[in-house]
Amino acid sequence: MVTTTTRNNVSVDVLRSINPATRETIGEVITTPVEEIPAIFAKARVAQKVWAAMSFRERREIMHRLVRVIAEDADAIAEMIVNENGKPRVEAYASEIVPACTLVQTLANKAEKWLKPERIRGLGPFGIMRLMGKKSWLTWQPFGVIGVISPWNYPFNLALGSTVSALLAGNAVVNKPSEFTPLIGKMTGDLFAKAGFPQNLVTIVQGYGHNVGAEVVRSSDKLFFTGSVGTGKKIMAMAADKLTPVVLELGGKDPMIVLDDADVKISAKAAVWGCFNNAGQTCAAVERVYVHESMYDDFVNEVRTITQSLRQDVSGDEREVGPIMNEMQFKKVCQQVDQARADGAEIIAGGKPNDKLPGYFYEPTVVVGAKQNSRLIQEETFGPVLPIMKYANIEEAIAMANDSKYGLCASVFSSSVSRGKEVASRILAGSVLVNDVLSNAAVVETPWQGIKQSGIGLTHSKDGLREFAQCIHIQTNPHRTQFYWHPYSANLAGALRNFTAGLFGGSAGGLVKGVRALMKHLKKK
Ligand code: NAD
Repeated sequence: MVTTTTRNNVSVDVLRSINPATRETIGEVITTPVEEIPAIFAKARVAQKVWAAMSFRERREIMHRLVRVIAEDADAIAEMIVNENGKPRVEAYASEIVPACTLVQTLANKAEKWLKPERIRGLGPFGIMRLMGKKSWLTWQPFGVIGVISPWNYPFNLALGSTVSALLAGNAVVNKPSEFTPLIGKMTGDLFAKAGFPQNLVTIVQGYGHNVGAEVVRSSDKLFFTGSVGTGKKIMAMAADKLTPVVLELGGKDPMIVLDDADVKISAKAAVWGCFNNAGQTCAAVERVYVHESMYDDFVNEVRTITQSLRQDVSGDEREVGPIMNEMQFKKVCQQVDQARADGAEIIAGGKPNDKLPGYFYEPTVVVGAKQNSRLIQEETFGPVLPIMKYANIEEAIAMANDSKYGLCASVFSSSVSRGKEVASRILAGSVLVNDVLSNAAVVETPWQGIKQSGIGLTHSKDGLREFAQCIHIQTNPHRTQFYWHPYSANLAGALRNFTAGLFGGSAGGLVKGVRALMKHLKKK
């Protein structure tokens, strides 16, 4: 929430940070005046030129310093994440700090290999262009200044990961953290400074999306956005004005299919962890489960038992399921569950706010009997709510899993990996895991991507790192007149006619005639 205060006799707007577990204010940061943002980008552009001239070895060394600084400050970072974002302390390490360090270290070690110029071989039919002496390379050049706009759900790992990827490709970064996690945003900026990154190379700007965020979109050379589908659409529309390229990492409604040969206990545990991790506020959370009818009752009972054992507490060390981030999100979760109940679904665990606790805690909730076309199954919930549905045959399960505007991740559980893989290949999602959930987010070598309305472009992996660079194709030719330049001759037209017949029409004679006509044309040149 923005309030106005006075610093050194000057009136400034500040963002207040609220602990979602207590609803208490835990700090504030000064917002960045929108009119200052173009100048911030101008300074970043100067810093970027120097940075881009540095070698990969130099960039790698400073990245390794960043990893050491994060490791040294890990306890303070975890404490901040617990207090401002509400994750259990275990998850602050497991899904923020450890994956962030892994990402920086892995990408720092791989960036040179993944971004080095790549030769394109076999140019033209039968490599004919190569015979003419042509050679081609793809090169990966920085864009300039990348705008990184980040959400609140993984406020440390996501902002840091995108920023580091952009830097390794030779860019400067202006990052706008979520207005709900400004202290983590500030702390992240301080870590880059502590690791010795050049001044103005990474700048954190604070404030709301509609003003500060919008100005970041307008000023960026490329925009890397992580957030909701609604905001993603607005950003794409804004970016269209200058045709600014965008990567959009958006929401999901991830399905899990439990096949009739799956182990009930293992798949139930996975469903619970995949849903209630980060209180369900994960883009790739398990948000709907389709279970074969032969094991449905056992699965539901198992999920209910584990769910009812999950702990909620004000203390970050005691809680297994944290609070919901803010009032708006809290109300959305309450409304979705209430509506599902009113529409005839049965709530078999939770189903209401945890009013024993002061914060935005919602009890871990399991819903059965929700309709496929209901809001609970079609809209992203982003809260601790797990709907389970029954299916009779696999075609029905695949159709229901694919019946969604989203396509981020999905999972299939089966005791046969090959059967799981076969079903996985029919699911429309950016990543489909067989016998696991969520964990691909921490494997930097593999792509992280959404299809359908879950996003455009990707991150992580070689191709994901290359999103932060513009591909420039360089082609070299020997220094001699090319046969297709002016003047044209009747022999050239004849050669091309015969080549068309020979190469594409299957006429061997045409090819021979084509070569002869070409020789005549060349003699005249
Ligand atoms: P959000 O869209 O409300 O906000 C994300 C960021 O965009 C914030 O920094 C916000 O200030 C900014 N913003 C808002 N309006 C803007 C505008 N008009 N111009 C520029 N910036 C603007 O999302 P959120 O609530 O912070 O995050 C939750 C969403 O993010 C969920 O839908 C979740 O699925 C998604 N998400 C996706 C991924 C992924 O990798 N696909 C990862 C994490 C979260």
